[in-house]
Amino acid sequence: MLSTLRRIVQEVSAAPGLDAALDIIVRRLHGALGVDACSVYLTQLEEGPQRLVLRAGHGINSDAIGRLSLAPEEGLVGLVAQRAEPLNLERATSHPRFLLTDAYGEELFETFLGVPIIHQSRVFGVLVVSQREGRRFGEDVVTFMVTLAAQLAASIMHAVVGEEAFLVQSGQAGGAGIVKGLSGALGVGIGECVVAYSPAALDDIPDRRIDDPESEVRRLQDAIESTKVDIRNLSAEMRSVLPAEERALFDVYVMMLDGESLWAEAERVIRGGLWAPAGLRESIRSHVHQFQDMADPYLAERASDIRDLGRRILVKLGPDEQNGPREYPRQTILAGHEVSAAQIAEVPRERLAGIVSMRGSGSSHVAILARALGIPTVMGAADLPIARLEGKELIVDGYLGWVFVQPDDDIKEEFVRLEREEHELSEQLQDLKHLPTVTTDGTRISLFANTGLQAEISPALIEVADGLGLYRTEMPFQVRDRFPGEDEQVQIYQRPLQAFAPAPCVLRTLDIGGDKTLPYFSVQEDNPFLGWRGIRVTLDHPEIFLTQVRAMLRANEGIGNLSIMLPMISRLEELQQSMALIQRAHRELLDEGLDTPLPPIGVMIEVPAAVYQIEAIAKRVDFISVGTNDLTQYLLAVDRNNERVAKIYDSLHPAVLAALVQIKRGAARHGKPVSICGEFAGDPLGAVLLLGMGIDSLSMSAGSLLRIKWVIRSFSWQRAREILERALEMEDGREVRAMMIDEIERAGIGGLIRAGK
Ligand code: PEP
Ligand code: MG
Repeated sequence: MLSTLRRIVQEVSAAPGLDAALDIIVRRLHGALGVDACSVYLTQLEEGPQRLVLRAGHGINSDAIGRLSLAPEEGLVGLVAQRAEPLNLERATSHPRFLLTDAYGEELFETFLGVPIIHQSRVFGVLVVSQREGRRFGEDVVTFMVTLAAQLAASIMHAVVGEEAFLVQSGQAGGAGIVKGLSGALGVGIGECVVAYSPAALDDIPDRRIDDPESEVRRLQDAIESTKVDIRNLSAEMRSVLPAEERALFDVYVMMLDGESLWAEAERVIRGGLWAPAGLRESIRSHVHQFQDMADPYLAERASDIRDLGRRILVKLGPDEQNGPREYPRQTILAGHEVSAAQIAEVPRERLAGIVSMRGSGSSHVAILARALGIPTVMGAADLPIARLEGKELIVDGYLGWVFVQPDDDIKEEFVRLEREEHELSEQLQDLKHLPTVTTDGTRISLFANTGLQAEISPALIEVADGLGLYRTEMPFQVRDRFPGEDEQVQIYQRPLQAFAPAPCVLRTLDIGGDKTLPYFSVQEDNPFLGWRGIRVTLDHPEIFLTQVRAMLRANEGIGNLSIMLPMISRLEELQQSMALIQRAHRELLDEGLDTPLPPIGVMIEVPAAVYQIEAIAKRVDFISVGTNDLTQYLLAVDRNNERVAKIYDSLHPAVLAALVQIKRGAARHGKPVSICGEFAGDPLGAVLLLGMGIDSLSMSAGSLLRIKWVIRSFSWQRAREILERALEMEDGREVRAMMIDEIERAGIGGLIRAGK
């Protein structure tokens, strides 16, 4: 059963469209379960109760496909959708909800098993198998169907979204395909899609049209030849470690590469006008299917070898920019399975109109980078029909986290208007530049910038920010191919220190791990967010820590505005060890003749343990800064980077608010200032509550500074305190959110939290 299941799932996810995907499901199920009939019903994608349309069937009256539709309260199929649970009936015809439809002609199908197809807690279809004679399906069949429906739900949804979008293109439907994801960076972007894919992800390869098939065919042949050489070399290297029979696999690989059939299909696709990687993708897919269908388990297993070969050749095909760097459209929407910082950096800033990533959430570091760059971004758009999007028009609504695929004229017009209003809003915000960040009743609050990108430190940023509240030093580490040396780091840190002087600059020591990796320092962990992260790495490598601290102290000589901040502190011992190392580096530098004071040292509170030890920490340091991104993740046990759980990642959760209050109180008892440097500080809903808590400063992405200044200038401190008190009485984050949205709208600044003014 497991191999049947796996095979159906793989075939469906590789199907070129919805009809093909559904056809595979009904045919395969029919064969695997030996049933008389099998059918799939799907709803429309809009919200609310929808009619269930018969979309595919095997063993039924095919004329009914596409025509028969049932209301949710109609028939057994409707009942499965209403209850969102399987229904297994031996005598379906005697059930009060039984309905004779033309799907089965005049025949009576006695046995019925229907299971719901559920994606992101929404029923959007029903999978049915039926039998003429009364036969009760056993539990094994029911669990097989339930497992299959759960596994297929996402693939079917991708295909549905793809179909909706492409019906629009062919004029068969109005509107646009909408893919719902999560807000990554605010703003609206309209442009042409460029698909970013990783060099080893065969299924993500987009269709791209080419003019010169001959050169693409040659490119593929060269890649195959070069792969053969690699495999032969690999086989030779393994001679001393692997027995001959194990090494035979390499010969099989070379034989496959020599075989004609594998490439005939690729060549056909290329000659049809698509580039070599798409030809390779198609050829690999069809061969994988052929192998999977083989009854001999040994041969069936060869499917994974074919995939492996495909990946190797794809890497050899390398970047498609054979003729110099790629020319990006003037308004590029970069979309990909898991868009990376490096892929973003490849697109010229002035051409990048939006980003869509199928993986990740608004708290992922890629989203933080997008906010820093001010690029409207949608994260976690898991249903994006990525392989079919290259060159298509997309609209990114970074407020709602929606992507419109091939919008019609009405939708486009609406978004062009919203985009214009956005520009007007940012112009309006520029008027606030020279005004103080002060509440209507005279309370001042400092607004600091978060950055890590040298390019971002501009005169405009320095003018708006009261200082640098978080410099993420891992960013300059991430764009290099080795650890930067001490002198190189001195130069890196001098830049922000000098640019902001005499305003304070908080440099955070290296915070790698979790979703922040260094290309030259690979760490493989099952649970990276709970693993070797932040201070844990640098304390295990004091040479890295000491080099960094020495560079920071040297960069500060003659400037004097440096503060050092320690990430991921979860035990006092880490704080003590870090402080001892900083003091040691400082003493050594004094001995070497450097004239620089010991800077203020602060701790990031981003692990729940540190909240409970806030007083013990506060009395030992000069300042506290709260990393709400990680604190929310760890308090709620919700991976900040995982779109599946993004719905429950909520910094307005009462537990997070209570922790923030506790941190502020604990630090105040020792007279230490508290800053917030997580994204919550740059969220208008969060900023009002933080103002009410009496937080001393807020540190945020550059793009949020003027927005938050507007928020602070729109509220009195008194009002913010009252709102906070009400929020602290609430028991549910959704309630807090609803109240905060209402307050923001009432203050006349709703344009900050939704598209338009
Ligand atoms: C945080 O966790 O809130 C924070 C500011 O650090 P980072 O986002 O870099 O993990
Ligand atoms: Mg953090």
